[in-house]
Amino acid sequence: MSLRSTLDFLLYQWLDAESLNQRTRFADHSRETFDAVFDTCERIAREKYAPFNRTVDTQEPHFDGEKVILPQATHDAQKAYAASGMLSAAQDYEIGGMQLPYTVEAAANAFFAMASVSMGSSLLTTGNANLLMVHGTDAQKGVFATNEFSGRFSGTMCLSEPQAGSSLSDITTRAVPDGADFEADPLGARYRLKGNKMWISAGEHELTENIIHLVLAKIPGSDGKLIPGTKGISLFIVPKKLVGTDGQLTGVRNDVALAGLNHKLGWRGTTNTLLNFGEGKYPVNGQAGAVGYLVGKPHEGLRCMFHMMNEARIAIGMAATMLGMAGYYASLDYAKNRPQGRPMTGAGKDAAAPQSRIIEHADVKRMLLAQKSYCEGALALELYCARLVDEQHTADPQAADEARLLLEVLTPIAKSWPSEWCLEANSLAIQVLGGYGYTRDFPVEQYWRDNRLNMIHEGTHGIQAMDLLGRKVLMEGGKGLQLLAARINATAARAAQVPELAAHADALADALQQVSSATEAAWASGQPTEALANAVPYLQAFGHTVLAWIWLDVALASLTLDATESIAARAGRMGATRYFYHYELPKIAAWLQVVSSRDATCADFPEESF
Ligand SMILES: Cc1cc2nc3c(=O)[nH]c(=O)nc-3n(C[C@H](O)[C@H](O)[C@H](O)COP(=O)(O)OP(=O)(O)OC[C@H]3O[C@@H](n4cnc5c(N)ncnc54)[C@H](O)[C@@H]3O)c2cc1C
Repeated sequence: MSLRSTLDFLLYQWLDAESLNQRTRFADHSRETFDAVFDTCERIAREKYAPFNRTVDTQEPHFDGEKVILPQATHDAQKAYAASGMLSAAQDYEIGGMQLPYTVEAAANAFFAMASVSMGSSLLTTGNANLLMVHGTDAQKGVFATNEFSGRFSGTMCLSEPQAGSSLSDITTRAVPDGADFEADPLGARYRLKGNKMWISAGEHELTENIIHLVLAKIPGSDGKLIPGTKGISLFIVPKKLVGTDGQLTGVRNDVALAGLNHKLGWRGTTNTLLNFGEGKYPVNGQAGAVGYLVGKPHEGLRCMFHMMNEARIAIGMAATMLGMAGYYASLDYAKNRPQGRPMTGAGKDAAAPQSRIIEHADVKRMLLAQKSYCEGALALELYCARLVDEQHTADPQAADEARLLLEVLTPIAKSWPSEWCLEANSLAIQVLGGYGYTRDFPVEQYWRDNRLNMIHEGTHGIQAMDLLGRKVLMEGGKGLQLLAARINATAARAAQVPELAAHADALADALQQVSSATEAAWASGQPTEALANAVPYLQAFGHTVLAWIWLDVALASLTLDATESIAARAGRMGATRYFYHYELPKIAAWLQVVSSRDATCADFPEESF
């Protein structure tokens, strides 16, 4: 099954994406306009991205002392992407957008992620500009966001510092008012920033005329000291080159300097940088300090940034999914063509018989089916979450609020589940290719290296797990979890009526019960250190239960909704569902056992005994 046919089924049959056109915001759209967007993106990805995926891996970005050099293919790909209008796909018509549903935008971006995940850093630019459209002033929108949407400028997200990754409350970049008239600047209250930002993706390059950094920094209190914790954090626009209110470059370079490029395991098509802000390499008006314009109110920076981070998390989940999918397709193709071994019969092997193709071996089929169930399941989950984003923005108030809460609970899963299991899919793809998979003659090792990032950035696996068990399932009196449980139970009730799915329905209801009981047991002592010590096994069990629900719902749609589906496609979805229920879902019992008993094996292990 091709990616396009899988997407078509999930979007049009399962999620009924066409019904979004009944909403005023999307009224001009139809399946034809959605398909036209997919055709364009599929073509650009095929022509401008896929052929150069290995090029950007081997020709790593390098700094010639003045400029960061990237392969020409990356310049061409980004130009084609900007020309397609995808940077502002979801924005209003008035500012040149297409008012596309987010569901369609996310699906269209899947083609690029599969073709070459690291050539497109566009999600940072879109996320940066989208944030400014929500929290920026009119001038900030006009000068910065609009030029990002057109592709003239690109965007970054500068949170991390060398000493502050997971713990953002410990950032030390400071911002002080720039002169007595600092509040009078038409681009926003003007500050001077000083500090170091680590790991900044797309932080330096020549792909666009300018780079718009969104930077978290602390404004010192009246005693000159930084306010501890996240409360003191504010958000600033820090352009690499200063811009006038007319959107034109003033010719003044801002005091942001590249300290160095990080040399990564994968994802090498995107630069990754250590940036020095305000150290005086490029003084502005004779003074050290990077000029930055406040976004929103002082001390509310993290709240504004979260707007961008939630979108980014769904996009990261989608990227992980598509890397998994790329490995799945490559290993499937290989397995169909590689002759190796002979069938074992009752009389032993017949050495004179022709060899089998490896796809005929049950163990190879197991590895392919695992990949299919992880990657197609994850794709369905990401699209489901994207549909919830559209519900949150355009449905009636009650449905919108339900979508908001469901997203709160599902976002850690949408980010983390594909990061772990589609990475596992990449590992299985290497295994299917055997020794060849371990070489650079085939693409699967690069997919694994590229995918390895996703458990680390945008909140590590451990941090996402603590967010889920420590915050999301408890918030608003556990209402988000209850809403999710109601949807899972509704799917199980419908599936219980379908003979082929009834046993899965029982297993799903049982899994949900196990997760609910474990949630309570984890918190029974009320001690966060005890409850959260096994947050990752909880995330794994929760994620597997969500994926089992998604697969059952997809299988129901395949059996009951789509009369046009081919026999092979339907058998594929039913087989992947069965695989997930027989080989994967039973794992949750072991994961939840340590959660429920608040097992302290790891927490209590003495450091000196390692
Ligand atoms: C290629 C790449 C691109 C990136 N792009 C950007 C970017 O564009 N902008 C940006 O701001 N950042 C970016 N990052 C930074 C990324 O978000 C951080 O690496 C991440 O937040 C983790 O921080 P850290 O690396 O300092 O690890 P640490 O925070 O030191 O974590 C190390 C380990 O300790 C665990 N840990 C930490 N604290 C706890 C705790 N309280 N409880 C339990 N476990 C804990 C973590 O889960 C992790 O396993 C990027 C990183 C990489 C590698």
